[in-house]
Amino acid sequence: MLLEELRQKVVEYGNKLISSGLTIGTAGNISMYDPESGYMVISPSGVPYAQTKAEDVVVMDLQGNVVDSKCKPSSESGLHAAFYLEKPDARAVVHAHSMYCTTLACAGVDLKATHYAIADAGVATVPTVPYETYGTPELAQKVRDCLRKSDSKALLMANHGMVAYGDSLEKAFAVALTCEWCAQVEWRAMAIGTPNVLSDEQMAEVIEHYKTYGQAKDSDKQSQGYFG
Ligand code: 13P
Ligand code: ZN
Repeated sequence: MLLEELRQKVVEYGNKLISSGLTIGTAGNISMYDPESGYMVISPSGVPYAQTKAEDVVVMDLQGNVVDSKCKPSSESGLHAAFYLEKPDARAVVHAHSMYCTTLACAGVDLKATHYAIADAGVATVPTVPYETYGTPELAQKVRDCLRKSDSKALLMANHGMVAYGDSLEKAFAVALTCEWCAQVEWRAMAIGTPNVLSDEQMAEVIEHYKTYGQAKDSDKQSQGYFG
């Protein structure tokens, strides 16, 4: 089977989307990119994660042509391709309708540095992409425009959800989990008061410290953060 290992991994992490509570039903989607072939593998549209098999995961090029699979690709394949086209280090993308990121995205509240762990996304504020209908080229284009201007490893999408990328699926998933945890902290802090948001200077220091967090030995290595 073409790109079997990557397709198995998409199945494995699709199940994690459900078991981690990041998403429910068939919401969200996962992809991985293979730089050798130039293809991405992406979860099929509307198939429950527990029922998805490796052969259902769709192999596509970044122009939207299906290369292998009997299933229809995720309706967000254009959005996933936007990451691989815009970010040369992107190897995996995780999209989820996770409760707290989605709550902020529906209220028009930015995901800010209420807690320093937002450094997992590499930024002090996770940008929000303006609303467009799910699964449209317009949404994919707005995501691409946002990626062009930002170093963030995650984005909120207005009235929709969140999306994260990484140089591995483990890292993309870890960023998604951290963003969701930070969004919940922000929401809880807003429920009892006004969150004390860390300054850009404070966050720049955290991001620097993160390079050697945990067992990371050399300063070039980006730690996986708390959920890696
Ligand atoms: P798919 O099932 O087509 O991947 O769509 C789910 C989704 O989250 C759309 O934004
Ligand atoms: Zn969605």
